[in-house]
Amino acid sequence: MELKLYDTLTREKRVFTPIDRSRVRMYVCGPTVYDFAHIGNARPVIVFDVLYRLLRHVYGEANVTYVRNITDVDDKINARAARDFPGLPLNEAIRKVTETTERQFHADVDALGCLRPTVEPRATEFVLPRADGKADMVTLIRQLIARGHAYEANGEVLFDTTSMPDYGALSGRKLEDQLAGARVAVDAHKKNPSDFVLWKQSAADEPGWDSPWGRGRPGWHIECSAMSAAYLGDVFDIHGGGLDLIFPHHENEIAQSRCAHGTPVMANFWMHNGFLQVEGEKMSKSLGNFFTINELLADWPGEVLRFNMLRTHYRQPIDWTVKGLEESWKTLDDWYWVAGDAAGGSVPAAVLEALGDDLNTHQMITVLHGIRNLAQAGNNKARGDLASSLRWLGFLRESAAQWAARRQTGAGIDTAKVQALIDARTAARAAKDFAESDRIRDELAAMGVVLKDSKGGTTWEVAR
Ligand code: AMP
Ligand code: ZN
Repeated sequence: MELKLYDTLTREKRVFTPIDRSRVRMYVCGPTVYDFAHIGNARPVIVFDVLYRLLRHVYGEANVTYVRNITDVDDKINARAARDFPGLPLNEAIRKVTETTERQFHADVDALGCLRPTVEPRATEFVLPRADGKADMVTLIRQLIARGHAYEANGEVLFDTTSMPDYGALSGRKLEDQLAGARVAVDAHKKNPSDFVLWKQSAADEPGWDSPWGRGRPGWHIECSAMSAAYLGDVFDIHGGGLDLIFPHHENEIAQSRCAHGTPVMANFWMHNGFLQVEGEKMSKSLGNFFTINELLADWPGEVLRFNMLRTHYRQPIDWTVKGLEESWKTLDDWYWVAGDAAGGSVPAAVLEALGDDLNTHQMITVLHGIRNLAQAGNNKARGDLASSLRWLGFLRESAAQWAARRQTGAGIDTAKVQALIDARTAARAAKDFAESDRIRDELAAMGVVLKDSKGGTTWEVAR
């Protein structure tokens, strides 16, 4: 099948041809782990999960590498750690914040039916040169300085944006405009207003690493240049994220990676999802329309949230509404009823063609409605095809009976809470506190959750 993707850099929809068909490589910027992810954050996770599934289908599961980083060094994390764990040494407090948030994030996106990426590197593990020789931030910064693209000033290392003739190509911002338009007083130590930080000094009470430029910490953008190079090489196939990352984050990633490696591009396709707003307004805490994935999962099944996200093409803005969620739930009720327990058929060409057209999930859903109508009219092949398409897309993860029962109780299960309880139970079992582990199992059972223990760990499912 032919796959066409829209590339933000060249501003065109082009046929996707991987650099190496046996090693198709995609990088997507992941979460900064200091708080619950909101439903807007779920959009890139779901969109690029669909692309990952499609790439695996086309090129073979073993031939696709999907990297999504975890940003576990950030001033927002430090602030949260100091606020929530004032009694602990900062390092421990930070670890608590990042580990808890990472666990919540995984529970949330698992509930949304997203596959785990091939690798999820943590930024803090790529700051200093590594024993395994994989790319790291300090080495990249040294290369940038050596090649004349970065300079030290006032204890910081900055990228010199004038050292790169086509800086600004992704976002379409010309350097001259930025220079002319800079109304804010330029930090005295910067050569140009658009120069950005690669490394900054850390105060004694901030996390820091010993580097050639003193004890400090990396800027945000350099993380992704290091982790993408570590797992995908200097040039790879697809780089993704939300629209807001085009500038400055992706622009600066491109500058760093290309200048450090001396390559004409960093990635061949730059893909960006549009923004999500809620009931016609920008989502914000002050407007009271801010929703975490976790909160929504208490009221809506993960599959409903996933489906609702895919009804809109990924480059369009989404207006997230209760009405839309109710419609999505009804559609899934119907599809579960028609095909929930059907044996698998195959994924029809029309479904793949829709996705092959720059991930046109909206068109794909129209195709699925057509297949559903055939199935409903008694066509058994259509029934199997609907079931296998939906399963392949991360739906029909429950039996038809489970789904219907869930509809009766009307509420989903708080997956983060389940995971936290499972972790507590694992700890209790390790400590041979079997009374406590039994108590937790009963608490979960009361929530409608059944545990399954195996050598690999504990998994759970909704009670039938
Ligand atoms: P952040 O934690 O803000 O860096 O965001 C993580 C990811 O979520 C990035 O890819 C953002 O572009 C994306 N994102 C954040 N807010 C929204 C939103 N309202 N709609 C769609 N994507 C978003
Ligand atoms: Zn990034």
